[in-house]
Amino acid sequence: MFTMRSAISCAARRGSSMRASRAPLLQPMLQAARSFSATPAAHAPTSVSLSEDEQMMKDAVSRFARETVQPLVSKMDEEELMDPSVIRGLFDAGLMGVETPAELGGAEASFTSAIVVIEELAKIDPSVSVLCDVHNTLVNTVFRTYGSKEIQEKYLPQLAESKLGCFCLSEAASGSDAFALQTRATRDGDHYVINGSKMWITNSAEADVFLVFANVDPSKGYKGITCFVVEREMGVAIAKKEKKLGIRASSTCQLAFDDVRVPAANVLGEVGKGYKIAIEILNEGRIGIAAQMLGIAQGAFDVALPYLFQRKQFGQFIGDFQAMQHQYAQIAVDIEAARLLTYNAARLKEEGKPFIKEAAMAKLYASQVAERASSKAVEWMGGVGFTREVPAEKFYRDCKIGAIYEGTSNIQLQTIAKILSKDYRE
Ligand SMILES: Cc1cc2nc3c(=O)[nH]c(=O)nc-3n(C[C@H](O)[C@H](O)[C@H](O)COP(=O)(O)OP(=O)(O)OC[C@H]3O[C@@H](n4cnc5c(N)ncnc54)[C@H](O)[C@@H]3O)c2cc1C
Repeated sequence: MFTMRSAISCAARRGSSMRASRAPLLQPMLQAARSFSATPAAHAPTSVSLSEDEQMMKDAVSRFARETVQPLVSKMDEEELMDPSVIRGLFDAGLMGVETPAELGGAEASFTSAIVVIEELAKIDPSVSVLCDVHNTLVNTVFRTYGSKEIQEKYLPQLAESKLGCFCLSEAASGSDAFALQTRATRDGDHYVINGSKMWITNSAEADVFLVFANVDPSKGYKGITCFVVEREMGVAIAKKEKKLGIRASSTCQLAFDDVRVPAANVLGEVGKGYKIAIEILNEGRIGIAAQMLGIAQGAFDVALPYLFQRKQFGQFIGDFQAMQHQYAQIAVDIEAARLLTYNAARLKEEGKPFIKEAAMAKLYASQVAERASSKAVEWMGGVGFTREVPAEKFYRDCKIGAIYEGTSNIQLQTIAKILSKDYRE
C-alpha cells in the first residue's frame, strides 16, 4: 500500500552520495518530511458530485497512480523518459479508451470520467496525466466524433488496447495561429503524400498513431486543412526530442514528414474540414488541461500540508502560525474554485450545452491556481521544498505548461472576451 511516507522514504533511498554528505544539515527537516502520515486520498475533496461509476473510476485511478506510477515519478523525471511499464499499465487498467464504446474495446464512460482520470493522474505525475489526456480527449475523441465506421472499427480498438496516439497540429511557424500551418498533402492516385514538419508533439516518441493536420490546397487557406491518420510505419520521423522545464517524462518532439504516403481512406472526416476538427477538439481538450492543472494544484497541496503539522519552529507547528493559516486557507479556496470551474465545463459539454467560454475560463484559472499552489507548496516546505527530496519543486516546474499548450493564457482570454462581447453586443 502506497503512503506519502513510503514515497518520501523511496526518494531518500535513491539519494546520491552527494546528497548523503548534506544529510546532517537537512536531517531534521527531512525527518519531518518523511513522517507524513496522510495520503492524498485522505484529503480527497468532495465538492463535485460524481456518479457512482465516476467515483469508482476516481478511486481506481488514484490507487493505480499511487501504486504503479508514483514509485517511478522521480526516475522518469530525472531521465526525461516515460517508463514503458507505465504506458502498458494505463492500457491494462482500461484508462486509454475511457469514452470509447465497449464494443470497440473501451470503458464507454462519461467525459467527466475522463476528466477525473486526468486529475487523479496529475496529482501524482502530470507527465503521465498529459499522456493519457492527449490520447483520450484529443485523439480518441477525434476518431469517435469524426471517423467513418471503418476508421473507428480499425483504430479505436487498437487505441484502447495497446497503441498510443498523438495530435500533430503545431509547427515552427504556426502556434497560436495554428491555421498558418505549412505541411502539405498532395493527392497521388489513391494516396496522399505528406511533406512538412510538426513541432511540440506530445507522446510522439512512443506513439504509433499520428493525427496529422496538413493542407491539401493552400489556395483555399485554412479551408484546405485536412486531418489524416498516419501510422508510424508509414514513415513518420522524429527529428528532435525537446528538453523541457517540466513534464519532462512526457515526450515532446519535432516530427519530419518526407514524402509520407498515406492511403486516401485515412482522411479523417472530410477533406478541407480539418480546421473544424482542430477547433472543436481543442475547445473541449482544454477541459482536460484544466483537470491536469487542478491535479497539480491538489497534488502540491497534499504534499505540503502534512509537513506544516510535522515541522516545528519557535516551539509550535508552522501550520499554526496565522500567517501560514491564511495562506493555505486561500490556496484551498483557489483549488476549490478551479475544481468547480473545471467540472462545470465538463458537465456542460457532456450535456450538449454551450461550454467554450467555460472551458477557456477553467483552463485559464486552473493553470493560474496550479502556479500559485505549487509555488506556495515549495515555500511552505522551506529549504526542503526547494530540493528534489520532495515533489513540490516538480509540481512547480510541471505547472508552467498550463499557460502555454492547447491555447496560451492570452488565447483563452481572447476566447472569453470574444464570446462576452458577442453576448453583450446582441
Ligand atoms: C510541452 C508542449 C507540448 C505540446 N504538445 C502539443 C501537441 O501535442 N500537439 C500540438 O499540435 N501542439 C502541441 N504544443 C504546442 C502548443 O499548443 C503551442 O506551443 C501553443 O499553442 C503556443 O504556440 P507557440 O509556442 O508557437 O507560441 P506563440 O503562438 O508564438 O505565442 C508566444 C506568445 O505570444 C502570445 N500571443 C500569440 N498570439 C497572440 C494574440 N493573438 N494575442 C495575444 N497574445 C498572443 C502568446 O500568448 C504567447 O505568450 C505543445 C507545446 C509544448 C510546449
